[in-house]
Amino acid sequence: MNPNVESLVKSIHHQAADPLCAYIYDLVGIQQHAAQMVKTMPEQTHLFYAIKANPNKRIIKELLPFVKGFEVASIGELLKVREVSDQVPILFGGPGKKEYELEMALEKNVSFIHVESLLELKKLCFLAKKKEKTISVLFRMNIRSSALPKTNISMGGRPSQFGLDEPLLREAISIVKSEENTHVHLRGFHFHSLSNNLQADLHVEMVNHYIEKVKQWEKIYQLNVDIINAGGGFGVSYDDTPQFDWHRFTTGLGNSEAFGKLGDKQLFFEPGRFIVANYGYYAAEVVDIKQAAGQFFAVLRGGTHHNRLPASWRHNHPFAVIPFGKWPYPFERPEVRNTTVTIVGELCTPKDQLHENAEIEQLRAGDVVVFKQSGAYCWTISHHDFLGHPHPDFYYVTERTNHEQNHHSTEKQYS
Ligand SMILES: *Cc1c(COP(=O)(O)O)cnc(C)c1O
Repeated sequence: MNPNVESLVKSIHHQAADPLCAYIYDLVGIQQHAAQMVKTMPEQTHLFYAIKANPNKRIIKELLPFVKGFEVASIGELLKVREVSDQVPILFGGPGKKEYELEMALEKNVSFIHVESLLELKKLCFLAKKKEKTISVLFRMNIRSSALPKTNISMGGRPSQFGLDEPLLREAISIVKSEENTHVHLRGFHFHSLSNNLQADLHVEMVNHYIEKVKQWEKIYQLNVDIINAGGGFGVSYDDTPQFDWHRFTTGLGNSEAFGKLGDKQLFFEPGRFIVANYGYYAAEVVDIKQAAGQFFAVLRGGTHHNRLPASWRHNHPFAVIPFGKWPYPFERPEVRNTTVTIVGELCTPKDQLHENAEIEQLRAGDVVVFKQSGAYCWTISHHDFLGHPHPDFYYVTERTNHEQNHHSTEKQYS
């Protein structure tokens, strides 16, 4: 357990009257991690952050000095990034872009639009000409390939709503090359075929495959592009499976034959999960401990309306227990020892479960369960107002200090 987070939880608990329920984002950890990632990346590669993993403005701000830019998939996300910086490069993707979104992208100085369909491309050519705004685009491609690693979420290599089906490329290219088109420049290709791949070597192979594909297309269609965006999808392990080895990936990629053939092309990556997942913590106090048909349940002040990832993926989310000694009532404090407990939330649905049959040394009503690795796709994908419980508070670790000074090491801020 991160000592800064632990001492923060203790100080929040000390102040709070209500049962504790909070998200804590370790901004220092995020910065260090991003800096470390960038450090090992080969030349000609650039790191973007896909903000949908966690669009918290403090996180965007904190990442600003370390990343080349941000990937957004809606106007809401676009404006969030623009609130933090009106200059930082933005990649704008997503299926089903509306006319107002394309117009806004033209106005808000987007660096690249990821074009996902022929109709979208035609609309963009039309709008850009009308507004007399030049725009660079990457075609998002859905390639049919067995070279893609298999993961629990895939967006490409199979029929999906994302990107251009490879056989449509000829027509897409003829649209940008036609005399009608005066303001849209094809600068390269975008791929985002999967999420949560844990295998560095496979990721190298996949990116190599993208590079080879682009080289082929350049030959077939007499193109010369300068950008390949290889997407995100670097995995985070929530159990004993080894974590994605970033260093192995960047080294393997840098030494690969395909990478050597990049010429003067630039290679982009736009991960979300891998940048932030391990630096978020969701802390929730145990409100009750019950036994039913021989099974123990710990009920939290909180649940999947705040952290839906474990329910969405049907996994057991890793956690730690922070014990609190105080018990204010004259009656016995519910407690379990050396047993398994299913940790559930406060919602009136059996789906509100965060960890099934967790091994517990000791857990009491009034203790706090801290779910680690809750920085990506946790708060942001959750149905916050289902059942109308109050939202969690948000806290940020903003500097590393030694343990004694914990009260100065953090600041509190509500979202
Ligand atoms: C979601 C998404 C990402 C980020 O994916 P991660 O699995 O979080 O790395 C990147 N690019 C696109 C187009 C996405 O939709």
